Amino acid sequence: MKTICVTGSASGIGAATAELLRADGHRVIGVDLRNADVEGDLSKPADRVRIVDEVTRACDGRLDGLVPCAGVSTPAPNSLIVSVNYFGTLAVVNGLRPALARGSDPAVVMISSNSTTMTPGLPVDEAMRYLNSDESSVLERFAAPDGFLAYPAGKLAIAFWVRMNAGTPDWIGSGIRLNAVAPGVIDTGMTRPLLDIPGVKESLEHIPIPLKRWGRPEEIARAIRFLLSADSSYVVGQVLFVDGGTDALLQPTAHPHPLP
Ligand code: NAD
Repeated sequence: MKTICVTGSASGIGAATAELLRADGHRVIGVDLRNADVEGDLSKPADRVRIVDEVTRACDGRLDGLVPCAGVSTPAPNSLIVSVNYFGTLAVVNGLRPALARGSDPAVVMISSNSTTMTPGLPVDEAMRYLNSDESSVLERFAAPDGFLAYPAGKLAIAFWVRMNAGTPDWIGSGIRLNAVAPGVIDTGMTRPLLDIPGVKESLEHIPIPLKRWGRPEEIARAIRFLLSADSSYVVGQVLFVDGGTDALLQPTAHPHPLP
């Protein structure tokens, strides 16, 4: 039995992941705004510190897995998208690294998105800004009117962060495997309300999905379970697209990308 922390455990992909892991016999420490073992707001720096402390105490300082799943998207304000999806996520991942280093075959599965490869012309610089700037600078950037890139750029930054850090002494050098999943459109509390926003329903319907349907939260949960488990013991630094084929359809030759 492993002890695994799942943030965003009260809804959608996080709830499905927590349920699957518990059904497998693992102990899950759920984190969310409410209805969780540890409650707090990942957009708030003080809460991030308290959440890391409470999870560390709850697992007696030894954590075997982490799924930082909490997140928000449009129509949430950009300030929340920036602070929860990227800076809140990284605060939890970095804050729990010492407990993960003491865990058994520890693994982290972060949540990116196929909006990273599906958003035409998404500037890579916007993701680099997340990686290279502090929270207030990124908040200031996305307070601008063209700040609609906050979500895909933040998710691209999460994918880059995984690939940049997975092979380093702090992570795999401490025995911790870092990977990510990049979901397509998944039927959750995040996406369902979008159908009521005029224009958004139509643009969602235009997304080409070879499987011809939205994904289900448990389909992402099963990919996360694989990346947490010993079945993926040699998988390090990968971003697994779980999107019904959209990424492959739109950019069949973009990946793998040979060294220049
Ligand atoms: P969801 O809304 O069903 O669940 C998100 C959970 O995060 C909720 O329980 C919510 O309370 C929690 N949360 C939000 N803000 C928080 C905060 N400030 N502090 C603590 N917890 C907070 O959404 P979901 O679809 O399950 O999304 C889960 C993750 O998957 C997110 O990171 C999202 O960006 C990502 N994702 C979702 C989709 C999709 O189509 N649903 C696609 C790609 C990526």
